[in-house]
Amino acid sequence: MKIFCIGRNYAKHAKEMGAETPSSPVVFMKPSTALLIENKPFYIPEFSEDVHHEIELIVKICKNGKHVQPAFASSYYEKIGLGIDFTARDLQKQCKEKGHPWELAKAFDHSAVVGKFFDKKDLDMDGLNFSLKKNGVDVQVGYVKDMLFSIDELICYLSKFFTLQTGDLIFTGTPEGVGQVQIGDQLEGFLSVGDHKESCFNFNVK
Ligand code: MG
Repeated sequence: MKIFCIGRNYAKHAKEMGAETPSSPVVFMKPSTALLIENKPFYIPEFSEDVHHEIELIVKICKNGKHVQPAFASSYYEKIGLGIDFTARDLQKQCKEKGHPWELAKAFDHSAVVGKFFDKKDLDMDGLNFSLKKNGVDVQVGYVKDMLFSIDELICYLSKFFTLQTGDLIFTGTPEGVGQVQIGDQLEGFLSVGDHKESCFNFNVK
């Protein structure tokens, strides 16, 4: 399986990073060894002094596809989940300055937290929103309608370059409010399901 990630997909997050709003999706990938599941603790890696949380909506691809056309994009996913794109912000800054790829900063072991998934049919996709609580306080809140590139647009775009396969994940970008995590932090993510919020993951930083 592949893990696609989209950068700068919310205007306010691009702004807080001092980046321009992209005219096409910013794409990078993580290997399967980046997965962190089942609420296992996240251990801050020794190579970074500044690991940030980025809460993101995750789309799970449900069938193989290449050159997916807009009218069919929505049939390529049935489940939506929530996770974190952990980012070593200090390394990412160095990579950006040198014009290097982001993998060391973004694709390291356990940098891709994946929580619970829900059936798309049980969700209000237009009003869908999500949030991250750090130590019980909301630090990031996102609304799917604020995505610069919609889920369908991302599926079409990615499938021009890569064959989408069942089980692939797309991290769809983070809203504003990213910040550093520290040892002892507790992180819990919530997704709006019907008229309430469901906890999708809840783990500790060590
Ligand atoms: Mg991200």
